[in-house]
Amino acid sequence: MFSFSQASAGRFAPSPTGPLHLGSLIAALGSYLLARQAGLRWLLRIDDLDRPRVVEGAAAEIMQLLETLGFEWDAEPIWQSCRDERYAEVLQHLREQGLVYPCSCSRKEILASAPHAGEEGPVYPGSCRNGPVGNRQQLAWRLRTHARPISFRDRFYAEQKQNLQSEIGDFVLFRADGFFAYQLATVVDDIDSGITQIVRGADLLGSTARQIYLYNCLGQPLPEYQHLPLLMGDDGEKISKRQGEVGVVHAGNGGEMMRLALQFLGQSPPAELLDAPASQQLLWALKHFDPGQIRPQNRLLSGLSDKR
Ligand SMILES: [Zn+2]
Repeated sequence: MFSFSQASAGRFAPSPTGPLHLGSLIAALGSYLLARQAGLRWLLRIDDLDRPRVVEGAAAEIMQLLETLGFEWDAEPIWQSCRDERYAEVLQHLREQGLVYPCSCSRKEILASAPHAGEEGPVYPGSCRNGPVGNRQQLAWRLRTHARPISFRDRFYAEQKQNLQSEIGDFVLFRADGFFAYQLATVVDDIDSGITQIVRGADLLGSTARQIYLYNCLGQPLPEYQHLPLLMGDDGEKISKRQGEVGVVHAGNGGEMMRLALQFLGQSPPAELLDAPASQQLLWALKHFDPGQIRPQNRLLSGLSDKR
């Protein structure tokens, strides 16, 4: 099912749903510096699985921008939208093991029957474990979970623990609308690309136990997890499209954005580099990066920009 032709890499996996934001630049930068410091290859993956949300041309723009900012990736990027056949193969494998089952529940039905809502949304109560209970045509496929807690140690967020059955429920690998779910795609891609170090925003801490469980189900060794603190907008929300132009990275403000991203990760380039192009700051960071300065605390955008 899985073969390793290459191993040991980190990665950055942007979703092309809009322009690159400072929050994503921080994830790109953190994963790049941590991979390079560990002597790993660094790969780029385009997470364009959620077709309805993908913005035409955004992926090309993000890649072009990363190149302008000085990032260098070590292989042709993987596009998730081209990988359906592979995901189907892995889902079939899990099906043969009896680990997945079809679910006919609508979101409304799940909301009505969920024992409680966890941090990640309503907990699926397992209604279809013994066969679909409704007669809906469109079926999702869910992975059977168990009640043993899954724990892992994150480099920056220390020990984490989650009981999938009571906090999440059996989770979706294939969606009723015909798309593979993020959890399946990301794990399959990370395994196939030999990713051993996963660096990403702390908003994905809550997905990690599900992904670890999938690695276990697939009999694969776990990567190392390093979640980065989040950059929040002034309203306390994660930086996103809602903030409009605030925090959008483009070639023109690349130097300033790189400085803010380095500062966010606790790095202090020398004064003469403060107005330097992004690529020069990145070269400095490759030599002087100190991961010990990364603090697992989310910060507001405004708390960053006035520090100069
Ligand atoms: Zn169901």
